[in-house]
Amino acid sequence: MIVEELNPLVNVQKTIKETCKNLNLSESVYELIKEPSRVVEINIPVQMDDGSIKVFKGYRSQHNNAMGPTKGGIRFHEKVNLDEVKALSIWMTFKCAIANIPFGGGKGGVIVDPKTLSKCELEKLSRGYVQKLCEFLGEDLDIPAPDVNTNAQIISWMADEYNKLSGKNHWGTFTGKPVVLNGSKGRTEATGLGIAIVAREALKKLSKSLNHSSVAIQGFGNVGSNAALCIENLGGRVVSVSEWDREKGFYAIYDEKGLNIKELMSYFHEKGTLLGFSGSCEIKEEEFWSLSVDVLVPAALENSINANNANLINAKLICEGANGPLTPAADEILEEKGIEVTPDILTNAGGVIVSYFEWVQNLNNYYWNEKDIKTKEEKFLVEAFKNVWAMKDKDNFTMRNAAYMYAINKLAEGMKYRGWY
Ligand code: GLU
Repeated sequence: MIVEELNPLVNVQKTIKETCKNLNLSESVYELIKEPSRVVEINIPVQMDDGSIKVFKGYRSQHNNAMGPTKGGIRFHEKVNLDEVKALSIWMTFKCAIANIPFGGGKGGVIVDPKTLSKCELEKLSRGYVQKLCEFLGEDLDIPAPDVNTNAQIISWMADEYNKLSGKNHWGTFTGKPVVLNGSKGRTEATGLGIAIVAREALKKLSKSLNHSSVAIQGFGNVGSNAALCIENLGGRVVSVSEWDREKGFYAIYDEKGLNIKELMSYFHEKGTLLGFSGSCEIKEEEFWSLSVDVLVPAALENSINANNANLINAKLICEGANGPLTPAADEILEEKGIEVTPDILTNAGGVIVSYFEWVQNLNNYYWNEKDIKTKEEKFLVEAFKNVWAMKDKDNFTMRNAAYMYAINKLAEGMKYRGWY
């Protein structure tokens, strides 16, 4: 087992430092963006169904608001920690800059395994999060959204709590709401659709086509499952999907002919497992990472591909669906192997792009149809991809280097105009 730095904050700070150097930016830029501008830690008391009080720790990190209000999801996970939330908020700043949307980066989290809570406890926890943070949130201040283990229901409770506390209808304070509560059409699939579009654009650059390409996806949550569906819709063949189970740990299924994703989604919803899906067989973790596929989409958590498994990878292209799924050591190994990587801050930007559309619709009280939203999302992503690729072409950088350069350069320019340095 190779030991490497797995703290995403330490790793992202290193990348920022290198990027500032590559761009010849003043040391002040690094000082301004190496840490979030504000981090709030909260303790949320929840009366459990048995009458006892349990206190959950949560965070909200607001990294940088040079370009607009901070924006980013809230995750509920037992492994949430302060450095992770800080790093995730930094990535959001860069993601919004690359997507060309007028936001800075934010992120929140609560240390909890939501599967251990009843619906009533989960609602109290969601409302409690907003009660503690209310003064720091707002449609022109900081706008949360769903992330790992949070969804439209949780966001609805949060938006309701915020509206009650403020005594007004501020629907633009949260995105990822259900369509019936002034959410945006196309938001649920937005991240997955974006991944499919970025994969398609990257394959074109490699003189390949997503049509008939074979694809493996790690993680079948909202992001992974919708990425699979959208890739299938664009003609890709999803041959393998993996998931994680409390008892079983990592597991994966494989079908050379391609899995029927719509059917797999219903099967997973009904049975709670991917195993036993018709036509598929189970494969081991090592086999999954070694699959000789055109595209591999890690869509689970940070550090999934690291110094210990990057050597196994045989995919031609990796599209980062999750935030931070590759460690810097994995990046190096993959670069040596000649495997192209589309970085998270570009690849999964579809979610926050449609969140931006939701916010615009809320502020204008005028709602768009699904076709318009998908067409606009595609336009934003194709443009973002083009900008990053143009930066990469300048000096044969990796796509990750190029994405950081594009984002930090833009941010530095904005901060300069504002007189921050
Ligand atoms: N949680 C998503 C992300 O990491 C979406 C954020 C948002 O829509 O604000 O990009």
